[in-house]
Amino acid sequence: MTSNPAFADLLNRALTEPGIVSKAYSAFHGYSIGNQLLALIQCQARGIQPGPLATFVGWKEKGRYVRKGEKAITLCQPVTVKRQDHDSEEAEIFTRFIYRNHWFVMSQTEGQELPALPIPAWDQTRALETLEILEEPFMLTDGNCHGYARERTIAVSPLAALAHKTRFHELAHVVLGHTSEGELNDAELTPRSLREVEAEAVALVCLEALGLPGAEHCRGYIQHWNQGRGSEPMPERSAQRIFKAADQILRAGTRQDWGRLLWYSLFSSFSRQRCPLAQYAAGLVKLLCAQAPLKSAGLRGFLIPRSSACQSLRSRFGVMLRSEITRRRRVKRGR
Ligand SMILES: [Zn+2]
Repeated sequence: MTSNPAFADLLNRALTEPGIVSKAYSAFHGYSIGNQLLALIQCQARGIQPGPLATFVGWKEKGRYVRKGEKAITLCQPVTVKRQDHDSEEAEIFTRFIYRNHWFVMSQTEGQELPALPIPAWDQTRALETLEILEEPFMLTDGNCHGYARERTIAVSPLAALAHKTRFHELAHVVLGHTSEGELNDAELTPRSLREVEAEAVALVCLEALGLPGAEHCRGYIQHWNQGRGSEPMPERSAQRIFKAADQILRAGTRQDWGRLLWYSLFSSFSRQRCPLAQYAAGLVKLLCAQAPLKSAGLRGFLIPRSSACQSLRSRFGVMLRSEITRRRRVKRGR
């Protein structure tokens, strides 16, 4: 890649290419939306299969090696910069974006097989709690209004055909800071085209990332409001704000399955050791990752499920552990 695309270019692709956000999210869900799109576009341009990303050292730690001659993927990192003004005492703090080419996709590496990390599920109640936004019962009688946002409160009409789309749109108004600028009512005729484009673009990104219906309606709505603002190109600052708000909303509702993450890290550390017992443990953990119903998040996920297949694996592991201990004792006594 010769030059790095601006956020406005990435947003333009997200808004005009159906499915691009969902592809990017499913392959790179641990990264920000902007970086997900950046990585996907590079993979598509170079014919690389999208998938888990890590740095050269990161892959080594997971027991995999970057193939010789593979070119790294460029991602963007925000850096907080402090600029001291010579004339005044105050320092100006702002965010700069730095592009670094340090990442490789799993398909550019070889070595130890790794279990797939599942895409974390999004939970509406959790998102509202984390964002400190209250959803109240819909109280307007206007049938044309599907939702509204006031300060840190939103409401979605029971008549809204695409409730998720309306909810993301209203959440976006709050997260983007529109509601702290004044009260909003979506049936109002006041021209506020950029706000509407921003909120609907956030809704589109969230819907596509989570595979929910309604993105095509967002496209129509955005086009309508864009015409209202004279079809001007999207300002770079707006594109940055849209990606940031979508990231905030998606992360706020994400429930990480810590149990599965634990198994994943156990597998990675066991599989790098030469000891046959550790290798066996790695195999066990991998089987558990693939088969076991570790759906439950949090603490329960740490426990080995008690299905019969796991029982037999556990007892086999127990036998192996005991024989390894006996073997080591014998070796010690023999010395
Ligand atoms: Zn709106």
